[in-house]
Amino acid sequence: MGTSSALSLQTLAAWADVKGVDVLACSDFTHPAWLAELKRSLRPAGDGLFELTDLPERYDVRGRERLARFVLGTEVSCVYPQDGRSHRLHLLVLAPGFDAVDGICRAFAPYGALASDGRPTLRLSGRDVVESVLAVDPRCEVIPAHAWTPWYAIFGSKSGFDSLDDCFGDMTGHVHAIETGLSSDPAMNWRVPELDGRALVSFSDAHSAQRLGRELTVFAGEPGYGALIEALRAGRVEWTAEFYPEEGKYHHDGHRKCGVNLRPGEHDGRCPVCGRRLTLGVLHRIESLAQRPPEPLAADPDGTLRGTETERPPFRRLVPLAEVVAEAFGRGVASKAVQRACLDLAACVGSELHVLTAAGPSEIEQVAGDRVAEGVMRARLGHLFIRPGFDGEYGRVQIWD
Ligand SMILES: [Zn+2]
Ligand SMILES: [Zn+2]
Repeated sequence: MGTSSALSLQTLAAWADVKGVDVLACSDFTHPAWLAELKRSLRPAGDGLFELTDLPERYDVRGRERLARFVLGTEVSCVYPQDGRSHRLHLLVLAPGFDAVDGICRAFAPYGALASDGRPTLRLSGRDVVESVLAVDPRCEVIPAHAWTPWYAIFGSKSGFDSLDDCFGDMTGHVHAIETGLSSDPAMNWRVPELDGRALVSFSDAHSAQRLGRELTVFAGEPGYGALIEALRAGRVEWTAEFYPEEGKYHHDGHRKCGVNLRPGEHDGRCPVCGRRLTLGVLHRIESLAQRPPEPLAADPDGTLRGTETERPPFRRLVPLAEVVAEAFGRGVASKAVQRACLDLAACVGSELHVLTAAGPSEIEQVAGDRVAEGVMRARLGHLFIRPGFDGEYGRVQIWD
């Protein structure tokens, strides 16, 4: 439900290569049919990672080493009452191998219909999810997903909690990482003391393969499940690639139907058009839970952003390459010309991540023209115009005024 019908493990691995992702989650491992597919199509590639048994065609020539490897990871949706309120939150679960996956499926099965959706709804608390997966295997890890979004997140305005402790109780110490989500960036999360010392991670939350890598986390060292868990537990993130948080669907407050898009502080909680309660976005929730002012950021010449007062992993803000090319060409994101140019850049210059963060303007210009090169540089340095997203509507990034 809710994902592209074109998704297969082969498509995922091939697009991960285009995007510059080395390790990605297989997703949906609690679904019996998909789990059977995973067991059939993946084989161990060392230290808790998995690779395709059958290569997609073009990789016969280019070689297996280019292909992304998989980690066994999924997302579950917890819906349960606590303290007289209904809570809903999404959690990511990582597992070191198929034995652990089988154990997790057995543990979850009494609490939800695992076959009904790739991301099952469980009548199980966040705390109990952590306890039960750690009982299956202590190398499992649970990460609150897109932590600030209103409807299904640990800190969401609609059905979340005000602290990790309220949600996870005695299991809070086992929650080592938080996924910041598309609508918030690390600097916004630095304002919440409870998150100090926890890894702030970003993943693409992609429902189609073309969106892989739109956010990602970079770790140092050789890829492996053990290394990944160790890094998460020690808070050792090298850097993260982020959306411009305004581009996320829930940055501002508002009502989509009424066309009302407001900052926190610009309203009294009610929609000026229909009078009903506004959907409070990510910025609003961070403002209400923050205990520190925003830390000023400094930008490196390549656009990398760092805090100026505390030692934290730096981050970069990305605009998806197809959006940059589309605006440069004056064409739609899905148009043939735009798709062609993106694939040409991937083939001639490097992965999308490389093009967006590191490639020289002349390299990009040779393949896709000077306007694309200029667009990439402007996006890299944040020289752009953004209309923030609100109430489920993505924000709009414009590179040229
Ligand atoms: Zn989710
Ligand atoms: Zn309204």
